[in-house]
Amino acid sequence: MPSESQSSRSAQQQVARTARLHPVEKAFAWFRANSGRLEDTQLEVTSIAAPPWGETARSDWLAARFSELKLDDVHRDELGNVFGIRPGTDSSAPFIALSAHIDTVFPADTAITARRDGSKLYGPGVSDNASGITALLAIAGAMQAIGIGNIAPILFIGNVGEEGEGDLRGIRHIYRQPRWSATIASLIVIDGAGTDTIIAEGLGSRRYEITMRGHGGHSWSDFGVANPIVALARVIDRFTRTPVPVSPKTTFNIGIISGGTSVNSIPESATMRVDTRSASVDELDRLERALHEAVDHAIPEVTGRKKQELLTAEVRVIGNRPAADLPADSPLLRMVRAVDAELGNTARIQRASTDANVPLSLGRQAIAIGSGGSGGGAHTIHEWYDPAGRDLGLKRILLLTLALAGVAEQ
Ligand SMILES: [Zn+2]
Repeated sequence: MPSESQSSRSAQQQVARTARLHPVEKAFAWFRANSGRLEDTQLEVTSIAAPPWGETARSDWLAARFSELKLDDVHRDELGNVFGIRPGTDSSAPFIALSAHIDTVFPADTAITARRDGSKLYGPGVSDNASGITALLAIAGAMQAIGIGNIAPILFIGNVGEEGEGDLRGIRHIYRQPRWSATIASLIVIDGAGTDTIIAEGLGSRRYEITMRGHGGHSWSDFGVANPIVALARVIDRFTRTPVPVSPKTTFNIGIISGGTSVNSIPESATMRVDTRSASVDELDRLERALHEAVDHAIPEVTGRKKQELLTAEVRVIGNRPAADLPADSPLLRMVRAVDAELGNTARIQRASTDANVPLSLGRQAIAIGSGGSGGGAHTIHEWYDPAGRDLGLKRILLLTLALAGVAEQ
């Protein structure tokens, strides 16, 4: 087996060779020459609403762009994930896949205005992830315009359901299909702006909705009937005393609490939503046990002796993102490191919750990187994107893709 330093050296040589190929240099020039068009594309995609579970219009739009770029087998699956293939000269080689999530966090009734102001672009989702979708189209566009002959086939994916309660459902579904799970060698997730991070460690999270239900009643005449809000308060009190380690970093949050109808009614129900996160699955399991224990303790504490005073609790899992890391000696990590060295780019390994969590949890190769440029105000209607430096992000993605796929030399 080659040593780690030999493997790094050969990755470095592979990247350097790829970067010097004439068609690759032409693709780099294409990115610069088309920067204005890419901005127009980004504003156009931003203006198409894509709320969670409502991505259809954007799926249709992206499929039309994939067709224009003459990708093969352009289609949408039953969830709205969009696919297009750039065939390789070796049709038996596994895919190098590039994905960008097409959903936003913004509900359907959000007023969307995408606009240019000075050198910046503004609009909800303009950076997260209209910039990623734009990068996907830029890579496919440059390869098409220049006629780059990739050896392994390249799979372009616009996926639904990354944000919040979408819970990575788009990528999860793709990795459940044998057609894709058996044939994707590496997945490069393009998410948001920037070039300074490599997300190679998946942050796991589990989310719960806990509902306490009781008989309810009048605050005066039914005094003593068990109160679901009080029970929930006991759960919160007990659960939030659970110690969590600094490393692996583990956190919890009570994000939403609701219940009751009026000040002089004993409520019939109360609900809360809890978010737990950790780099370790064991810690997520431990927090889950602590949450159930807190619920089990609260009920007898609050319930009285009479039958109508009984309380019931329901704990529902509303989100489950697996935690897993890309091994330090993985070929994909070595290659992205070599690309950064070639481009003089500095990036650090980061842990986050992205579409890469799904393949990583299956022991498959995946990373998430940015689309270049810079952005801010993510998940707010004041979101912005500055295209200065987009170039570097696109070169980074293209070089990584082609170093992995190989380029047939004419
Ligand atoms: Zn995102």
